Amino acid sequence: MQLYSTKNPDLRVDFGQAILNALPKDNGLYMPTEIPKLGDDFIKNIRKMSFQEMSYEIAKTIIGDSIPADILKEIVYDAINFPAEVVHIHDNIYSLELFHGPTLAFKDFGARFMSRVMKYFKKKGKKLYILVATSGDTGGAVASGFYKVDGIEIVILFPKGKVSPLQQKQLTTLGENITAVEIDGTFDDCQAIVKKAFLDEEMSENYDLSSANSINISRLIPQSFYYFNALKQVDYNENVSFVVPSGNFGNITAGILGQKMGLPVKHFIAATNANDVVPEYIATGEYRPRPATATISNAMDVGDPSNFPRLSDLYGSTWNTIKDKLKGYAYSDEQTKETILEVYKDYGYLLDPHGAIGYLAAMEYKYETGYEEPIIFLETAHPSKFKETVEETLNQEIEIPERLSILSEKQEHFYPLPNKYEKFKKWFKSTFEETEN
Ligand SMILES: *Cc1c(COP(=O)(O)O)cnc(C)c1O
Repeated sequence: MQLYSTKNPDLRVDFGQAILNALPKDNGLYMPTEIPKLGDDFIKNIRKMSFQEMSYEIAKTIIGDSIPADILKEIVYDAINFPAEVVHIHDNIYSLELFHGPTLAFKDFGARFMSRVMKYFKKKGKKLYILVATSGDTGGAVASGFYKVDGIEIVILFPKGKVSPLQQKQLTTLGENITAVEIDGTFDDCQAIVKKAFLDEEMSENYDLSSANSINISRLIPQSFYYFNALKQVDYNENVSFVVPSGNFGNITAGILGQKMGLPVKHFIAATNANDVVPEYIATGEYRPRPATATISNAMDVGDPSNFPRLSDLYGSTWNTIKDKLKGYAYSDEQTKETILEVYKDYGYLLDPHGAIGYLAAMEYKYETGYEEPIIFLETAHPSKFKETVEETLNQEIEIPERLSILSEKQEHFYPLPNKYEKFKKWFKSTFEETEN
């Protein structure tokens, strides 16, 4: 597998380099030079394959011989060890439940796969530092995916007061090789600090730095697996449509990657909260990144979606081509809460705030287009991760899975820092000085 930079098609690197560097030096994003099609038999036989079997086939097709087949198989089977189930809600509207992993959000798929692939490619005998900005769920998934992986230090930047209490526990209570930093700013500020660190030559001379954000292509590949696994679980004639609750637009990009490989999709539908840069772009042709607004679907509080260049690279990069292929809808916190309550009352299905936005977009799309085939929205996190919001909305207590409830007694450890790159750099150098030899 070879990759190029979205800013320079002539720049070529191999898979290992793209994963370890995360970002090309020209500040573009890595994209595969070739997106091979899965054979016709793949879709035809999809119902006969287990989730792990199909995941391995997809991984092998795109990654090629960059990782030896037996090792790749082990990585996939080990990373994808929990289900991605489709549940029918009503009228051909389905929820694809992506929250059955260790941290109860879809990011477990990407983080578990990436940690194993990084361990494979990492330089022996040299410490690797992974910086990651989180709007809520990435931090926990990465912490869990990399916990106690030898030779890899994880540094998680989270925005002060903008992640849910349980999300915060997931990234601040593990210790060992996991260090959390609270930035007095927004998610976009955290992301900007991570990007600056990468492009800082002094930092890259002294440390092997990488990123676990969805700018890292190794997170997107495993996120394409569950779209195929969802197709297997519904009855369709020609195609299905997917609604993806979106923030950085990594998850939807992974789906589009799947589409290029042969997944039969009528439309991808981007659903957002008030941070509606992309739906606005689809409607008006104007792309206006701006500071993020805090909402109850906090994992989507992104004002400058980092994967947008990949999405437009895949869909042809002009407004005309993009607006035909991609739908976009945005919803308020009020609408989100009403929907959680209504869907629970009418269908007995409990949505989390992100899934609720997905459901709303599925209904709007169905109404607007009259599409009659299955519409599958991604239920990106378990409702209990947003316990406070969901309980207040329903006016009743909800059940918390044990892997979350045990966190509440654990002690948090994190470093509070102002929103200034120089302060972060100074902190980083003094914290990791003694481990660098
Ligand atoms: C990260 C996240 C999203 C947004 O995914 P992107 O790939 O950033 O678009 C949506 N919902 C939940 C619960 C998340 O954790």
